[in-house]
Amino acid sequence: MKNLVKNIFLSLKGDAILRSINRTPRILFWHGVDYITDQKVEAESFDVQSFKKQIKYLDKYYEIISIEEFYYRYKHNKFTNKEVVLTFDDGYLNNLNVVCPILNNLNLPFTVFVSTEHIETGELFPTSIARLIIYGADLDIINVPYLKIHNEDISDTENRTIIYNKVINSLKSQPLEKVRKIISELKANLSDQDYTRLVEKFKSVKPMNWVEVKKLHNLGATIGSHCKYHICCHDNQDEKEVKAQIIESKNIIEEKLEAECKYFAYPNGNYTTASNDFIKTAGYKMGFSTEKNLKIENVKDTSIIPRIGVPLNINTFKIYINLYPKK
Ligand SMILES: [Zn+2]
Repeated sequence: MKNLVKNIFLSLKGDAILRSINRTPRILFWHGVDYITDQKVEAESFDVQSFKKQIKYLDKYYEIISIEEFYYRYKHNKFTNKEVVLTFDDGYLNNLNVVCPILNNLNLPFTVFVSTEHIETGELFPTSIARLIIYGADLDIINVPYLKIHNEDISDTENRTIIYNKVINSLKSQPLEKVRKIISELKANLSDQDYTRLVEKFKSVKPMNWVEVKKLHNLGATIGSHCKYHICCHDNQDEKEVKAQIIESKNIIEEKLEAECKYFAYPNGNYTTASNDFIKTAGYKMGFSTEKNLKIENVKDTSIIPRIGVPLNINTFKIYINLYPKK
């Protein structure tokens, strides 16, 4: 029924009407784009065909500009209000192998925000690990002692979802050292060999290494920071840790790429007053949040410029990106 309503809305050109009313620059974000084995396990990545449809739509109806051009227009108040900026979070290998060829073929600029520790070590991003272990590994029993999960039966879907939500909520709200503990306990449910096999099976979860990030940068992508570890900058984090994550990741990227790192995107969109100050003192030109509802012209703080996380389904996408931001 929901789909039917969307189809009728679109057949009546509802998206075009929304677009003509709701004129404002937009920054969109994705994570990965890849040939997907299982959408539930690889929830961070969109399949290639869906992504191509989305880009075709944007290219037809919007002006896709670089983040640099966005910054220029922001500073000089020169928006046409048809702008769209394409950004990708975390630093997946498929950003180089899949996204880059698609966008470069169309001459469309884009930005990738990378978490430098994951680039350095190859460690997967925390929520990827949770999905791999809980949804991808076919485990019947799971242990995460720190979260009081002891020999929990996850063979039925309902219990599996409960455990999954508990783990994800903790990963997004706990301080970094606790997140590391949860991650190591999650991984302990499998042998190293089984874990490696899982990563190969659901390969969209893989981060780039530095050689690959450099290659992406040389192919024209703008590289921004997404912290060192994929840390959520909320109030439960140690402020010194947040400061180090924001400042040091910038320095590392600049050293590795021999180019200025001007932009930052908050993992999971979490920020605090202090973290916003660190963005400015670190010397970033802009920081980006994930507040899909706020219009860019209504946010005065340049460390939390809003972005819209796009939905996978093409019809939902066509409505969603024209509907948001709402205020
Ligand atoms: Zn992220």
